[in-house]
Amino acid sequence: MTTMTTRTLLVGAAIVGLLTLGTSAQSGNIQQAVDSAYEQFKTLKEGKNADYIPALAKVDPNLFGIAVVTADGKVYTAGDIKTEVSIQSISKVFTMAQVIQEQGPEAIEKRIGVDATGARFNSIIAVEGVRTVVGTGAPEMNPLVNPGAISATSMVRGASSDEVWKKIIGFHNDAAGRQLTVLQDVYKSESDTNQRNQAIGALMLAYGYIKDNWQQAVDLYTRQCSIGVNASDLATMAATLAFAGKNPVTNKQVLEAAKVPGVLAVMATAGLYDDSGKWLYHTGLPAKSGVGGGIIAVSPGKFGIAVVSPPLDDAGNSVRAQRAIAAISNQLGGNPYVAARKE
Ligand code: GLN
Repeated sequence: MTTMTTRTLLVGAAIVGLLTLGTSAQSGNIQQAVDSAYEQFKTLKEGKNADYIPALAKVDPNLFGIAVVTADGKVYTAGDIKTEVSIQSISKVFTMAQVIQEQGPEAIEKRIGVDATGARFNSIIAVEGVRTVVGTGAPEMNPLVNPGAISATSMVRGASSDEVWKKIIGFHNDAAGRQLTVLQDVYKSESDTNQRNQAIGALMLAYGYIKDNWQQAVDLYTRQCSIGVNASDLATMAATLAFAGKNPVTNKQVLEAAKVPGVLAVMATAGLYDDSGKWLYHTGLPAKSGVGGGIIAVSPGKFGIAVVSPPLDDAGNSVRAQRAIAAISNQLGGNPYVAARKE
């Protein structure tokens, strides 16, 4: 994040207002922004693949793909947008959205919370720190860190594990606009090594966030994290959130429009974990990262963007994805906090 300079922000701000995204005259600008970010960052070698899930260490660190999806469903791409990586924590957004869709925004706010923990994504101290307020209606946690995410998965209704899974994968399919599948090697690798998440699941049951069967919640959470996606799938998922819950490629209404702002607010608060503030400061974009190397970001009403590149920084966020998304969005005037000035 350190090389994301104020200059990048100012350049973005200066050209905002010159661009109206989505018109054919501007298609060239979008493609140019995508191409130039690809060229600029393709040789960047900072960061390291996640290795606490053994299968992730084996993914090609050179994989680099960018996709932007606009209101008209057009997909602008550069690099490898076909190779799938595991969605990992990006799935947390869509499972949270599904619970909000099904049970209303208060269900998430009251049971899990919508506040930043300021801690790492799998912090147990963050659970300990808020346990006394469970049940008071204001737990200081959120569904985008592991404890909150495993709890959100436990809230998806269904008579059996299979029934819940069908709903989870169905919602992801609708947002991506195609049938997604689980990367079995990742699922197995994470299931064999997810003792920390199992401990978190058990704690969440003990403290009342999870009502029963924490083992099922952890298993379904692990499965949802192993869904295979490419940059183009992820950008379409981001675009579904950018355009009031309607997938602009398939035109299917995936999430009720009124439920989208709450989802974006939690992404803005906690999407890049303990670096969320820094990210928002530089881009203004609600976003979500995954340790598989993907990041999605949403410019409401303008575009959805995603980058896949496995090497991560210390906070667990893809280095190249952060740089490329910031550069493209700021060039296209994607920061929602930048108002076009009336002359
Ligand atoms: N499945 C991963 C885990 O639970 C997801 C973490 C992430 O993408 N930040 O550790």
